[in-house]
Amino acid sequence: MNTLQNKVAIVTGGASGIGRATARLFAAEGAAVVIADLADAGEVVREIEADGGRAVAVAADVSSETDCERIVRTAVETFGGLHVLFNNAGIIRRKTALDISVDEWDLVMAVNVRSVYLMCRFAVPAMTEGGSIVNTGSGWGLKGGGNALSYCASKAAVVNMTRALAIDHAAAGIRVNSVNPGDTMTPMLRDEARQLAEDWAAFEKDAADRPMGRAGSPEEIAAAVLFLAGDASSFVTGSALVVDGGGLA
Ligand code: NAD
Repeated sequence: MNTLQNKVAIVTGGASGIGRATARLFAAEGAAVVIADLADAGEVVREIEADGGRAVAVAADVSSETDCERIVRTAVETFGGLHVLFNNAGIIRRKTALDISVDEWDLVMAVNVRSVYLMCRFAVPAMTEGGSIVNTGSGWGLKGGGNALSYCASKAAVVNMTRALAIDHAAAGIRVNSVNPGDTMTPMLRDEARQLAEDWAAFEKDAADRPMGRAGSPEEIAAAVLFLAGDASSFVTGSALVVDGGGLA
């Protein structure tokens, strides 16, 4: 287990769901991991340390310029460099143009889109030996979805920013790709059900209608992120990897 031996990685939104599973997998593969989240990531750090890995938690808001600078500085000062950045923190508002407020629209854009730009602004210069950046898009960044206008706009932006970043930073030896999950069993999905006042059973039925007949697990998304983060994907950049059990197909 040494895909990321001697590498330093940042995972945003690493206190929960996909980010948490990825932080644990990165650490198991040898990376020292900085876990940045609004929520307390102390428990994930303790789990990683109990397994013999290295991690540190940073309480931070990825929509804040000063917080993003501090996240990257923590990686460099604590672990001596930076090689992998997983821009994964995100939020969803299940609303249409008719009911989303301007403040909510701006919040979704700030957390999902501005964060990717800000984290890259500070991370790229810190990746002095080259590196890999993985951004979490969504199936809804590649096709439309109902009742989630701001989210769909934000994730389409993430997918295309990924391509633009890949072009801009290829010469510096930095690859940039997006991972695009379908429905994945995380607290976010439960929150969506709550926002829509829908029965959880309706979500499970939706997933059952897809080709593979189920939603994904955070660990299944993390495995794809690890592929993009490590040398196994050394000729892959600017791509949008779909991990959705065939949903988009
Ligand atoms: P989650 O809610 O379990 O985890 C998201 C984490 O991001 C939380 O720990 C939260 O505290 C953190 N976060 C939110 N705003 C933040 C901010 N401003 N600064 C720092 N941290 C912040 O959700 P998840 O399902 O693991 O989602 C992870 C990513 O995957 C998101 O970008 C989401 O849009 C994307 N995604 C999820 C699904 C799904 O079905 N779960 C599908 C497609 C894409």
